[in-house]
Amino acid sequence: MLDIHVIRQKANEFQEAANQKRISIDIHELLGIDDRRRELMQLTESQRAARNRRSKAIEAMMREGRKEEDLAEREEAAKQQEQLKQAEEEFRTVLTAYEALMLLVPNLMSPDTPIGRSDEDNVEVRRVGEVPEFGFAPRSHVELGQQHRLIDLARGVKIGGTRQYVLQNYGLQLHRAVQQLAYDLLLDKGFETLDVPVLVKEQTLVATGYFPANRDQTYAINGEDKWLVGTSEVPLIAYYSDEVIDLTEPKLLAAVTPCYRSEVGSAGRDVHGLYRVHQFAKVEQVVLCRADLTESLVWLERMTANSEELLQLLELPYRVVAVCSGDMSQKNYKQYDIETWMPSRNNYGETHSASLLLDFQARRSNIKYRDEEGRLQYAYTLNNTMVASPRILIPLLENHQREDGSIYIPQALRPYMRGLAEIQAD
Ligand code: AMP
Repeated sequence: MLDIHVIRQKANEFQEAANQKRISIDIHELLGIDDRRRELMQLTESQRAARNRRSKAIEAMMREGRKEEDLAEREEAAKQQEQLKQAEEEFRTVLTAYEALMLLVPNLMSPDTPIGRSDEDNVEVRRVGEVPEFGFAPRSHVELGQQHRLIDLARGVKIGGTRQYVLQNYGLQLHRAVQQLAYDLLLDKGFETLDVPVLVKEQTLVATGYFPANRDQTYAINGEDKWLVGTSEVPLIAYYSDEVIDLTEPKLLAAVTPCYRSEVGSAGRDVHGLYRVHQFAKVEQVVLCRADLTESLVWLERMTANSEELLQLLELPYRVVAVCSGDMSQKNYKQYDIETWMPSRNNYGETHSASLLLDFQARRSNIKYRDEEGRLQYAYTLNNTMVASPRILIPLLENHQREDGSIYIPQALRPYMRGLAEIQAD
């Protein structure tokens, strides 16, 4: 959890960050509860010490046979015990309220974070690649998917309900090819790759900053303390929880996992096709580095560049946006999204998201390292999508379609597609 001393020192800044991130919390209420928590902690400690002193005195009276005094003392002791019980009960209630509020306090944001309400207020940083000008009416990925038997939405819904899909034939091959290309790129860049659990304990989601905020986005396994993660960022960060790690060199971790999201709150949005589904695959990058702002900002740029390299290999036009306060989650300090051109939306659509969290996650997850002076410090953590599929299939199929109905396969994907250069028109 964040440091209550820092929250106290910068109460107005934290309140402003909460307001700008549209998180409902009253920091002054939290500080009032913290005052009461401290008072009750002191009170219960002093009452416990007084009770122990009295118990010793009673023992001495019994030994010395001072019966009358002993009786009076016993009455006092019973009263004292009752007062202590009440104070302890109040302490537990206040502590619960304190801990619940502490879990809602947002991370502060970088000074250059745009202030805004929604993704419409995100600020474009750069555009790369040319948006295609089709001399014909381009088809959507849904139409292309049907035409070439790549995507079967109807049967996906029949099997699993809304926002489900089946990938078939070259559709599945493309899905696997983009992931393998992303994985290989990360291997080349020195990332350690892990196969991690996607079923995790509730505490793992609290410790990585996903709960309580994202609870309703997360699928629970009935009757068990097991939850399906929406991103492998969760197990990758939890991998080092409650450890003191060596950060002489940063830890670069990557995983390829399925991700599950209930998408509560997006009813009616992006219902067509593969954009917003309940289950998808993601190659994720996670970095843990020393608590050095400059170093961590360099890593944010590098991780973003890794994803951009992938998009360039896929020959897709994209833009990088600085995510504004209202579109940023509780845990982020600074965030870039990458949006790739999607002809069927006639717009760029989010395909990647890179975040720097400073020590927000490491505090909750208790991940520390020793600095040059041997002092224990909390690590800084970052994460970014390397590729998420099937969403990436939308720009891949739509941007690379040709007038004759064929679909061009970028060079970089061909080794993963058994050399296939195009999906032919039928
Ligand atoms: P996030 O972890 O929310 O930043 O998402 C990372 C990336 O995962 C997004 O940029 C999308 O490419 C992909 N993604 C997130 N949610 C979904 C979803 N419901 N359906 C398909 N892809 C998704």
